[in-house]
Amino acid sequence: MSESKVSVPLLDLKPQYAALSDELDKAVLAVARSQYFILGPEVECFEAGVADYCAVEHGVGVSSGTDALIVALMALGIGPGDEVITTPYTFFGTVGSIVRVGATPVLVDIEPDTFNIDVSKIEAVITDKTRAIIPVHLFGQMADMRAINQIAREHDLLVIEDAAQAIGSKQNDRPACSFGHIGCLSFFPTKNLGGFGDGGMVVTDDADYASILRQLRNHGMEPKYYHPRVGGNFRLDALQAAVLNVKLPHLNTWHEQRRENASLYNKLFKAAGLNRTADALDSGLSNGIVLPIEKENNYHIYNQFVIYSEQRDALMEHMKANNVGCEIYYPLALHEQECFRLLGYKKGDFPNSERAASMSLALPIYPDLTTEMIERVVEVIADFYN
Ligand SMILES: *Cc1c(COP(=O)(O)O)cnc(C)c1O
Repeated sequence: MSESKVSVPLLDLKPQYAALSDELDKAVLAVARSQYFILGPEVECFEAGVADYCAVEHGVGVSSGTDALIVALMALGIGPGDEVITTPYTFFGTVGSIVRVGATPVLVDIEPDTFNIDVSKIEAVITDKTRAIIPVHLFGQMADMRAINQIAREHDLLVIEDAAQAIGSKQNDRPACSFGHIGCLSFFPTKNLGGFGDGGMVVTDDADYASILRQLRNHGMEPKYYHPRVGGNFRLDALQAAVLNVKLPHLNTWHEQRRENASLYNKLFKAAGLNRTADALDSGLSNGIVLPIEKENNYHIYNQFVIYSEQRDALMEHMKANNVGCEIYYPLALHEQECFRLLGYKKGDFPNSERAASMSLALPIYPDLTTEMIERVVEVIADFYN
């Protein structure tokens, strides 16, 4: 007798919408009725809410997480001739933004266990042209900000946190974006706090940066039709802000649900005998997988739950054949991308990033997953290894 098996998408936003649809529909309608679409009270309310959530003074709503990085770099006066340190194992927008302001990305490999920048390798690449470090809090866990801020202080560098995947992530009880000079957030629908389209925010404790950021997101304009700077159209819509204002109060609950899902995965994979530690990556995983870890003094928000598998591509095929979603973040480290060849890096320069690109696989982790769905994911993976 064949039993019907539950299918598990990588991400399904519909249950979240269903739970909040009354409020969300009302918020969207209110914007429609006001016909007030650009910036305005919904945006200001959301900026204050996010700044408060990140324990910083100022929030400046922008059009996307990528634009947040671009205006942050512009506000800090970073451009041609300047070098900015980050990692090659991140979403394209991190390195793309550095190139788009005319600066030069200088890449540093990641740690295998957290996928975040290996702070022990930063000082070796600092030159007299280095202006800033962009630590990326990948998958929802923060890079080692104590070490990064110490290096930054010693070398007089600026720190821009790419917290696109890490709103609400914490280190030593302090939230992401409260460590650097400027923090950058994304409200792309797949992030823990996602809008009904693109959106982002730049947050800072510094009032001068905040006023420059506000000018830059609106063509460098202040007052109206007078332009002390050349900015761009990087504004956040009232419609997105209205949606995000409804969602923000639920964010901590969603983080907790993701964390519960992560701990159920850990328990079930361990019970199935499949878990290996990141140390085993060098010697071989012998028919097992490496599970993500939460470092001490960190609060991981699991925007993604990313494992390592030696047979990653075959595992992915097997999961898709069994209606279990998964995705590769990211299949090619950025120093190997065609558009970044001009940076002069080559294959082999960042072995941990390259290995992550060839072995990593993201499993479903969104808050509305049921226990049955998580059990099914583990069952399908265990079935692959047996
Ligand atoms: C999503 C993301 C961005 C870009 O955000 P968008 O809103 O999609 O432009 C930047 N950096 C990282 C690490 C991201 O995950």
